[in-house]
Amino acid sequence: MPSKPKNRVGEVYGKLTVVRISERRTKSGNAFWWCRCDCGREREVPGDKLSHNTSRKKPVVSACLQCSRELQIESVTIKNDRDEVRRREEAQCNRRQLQGQVPDSWLRLPLTDAHARELGQVLFFRGTRCLRNHLAPYRINGGCLACAGQKPSA
Ligand SMILES: [Zn+2]
Ligand SMILES: [Zn+2]
Repeated sequence: MPSKPKNRVGEVYGKLTVVRISERRTKSGNAFWWCRCDCGREREVPGDKLSHNTSRKKPVVSACLQCSRELQIESVTIKNDRDEVRRREEAQCNRRQLQGQVPDSWLRLPLTDAHARELGQVLFFRGTRCLRNHLAPYRINGGCLACAGQKPSA
């Protein structure tokens, strides 16, 4: 029997909160933990991937598989950019609340300026209002499309 692992229930890593220990163990005997993501999904994560130390080479896990994919928060380009991760998480959160209130096409746009550049696109939608209170996509290097007098489809 491996020694009883330290209780990590309640610890928070990005969008994940540790909820209970799993029966699963890694080859080296470390425990897996069930974590609940902010979106409500659960993900089983080996304990050594739950870390706040982003400087180490090992990848860390900070969201469920679905959110990780949506946010690309485990992608190489932004691996160490915590601010960008937070911006994408905020945009994702804003957009979830806007579902049905804005065109679906806006919700498929990149999440941030940097995300748009990564994908080679020019528009992004963070789900935030501009200084003139428009809710509209933004153009990279530009501002809100409504301010620019353009329709997002143009
Ligand atoms: Zn999630
Ligand atoms: Zn505007």
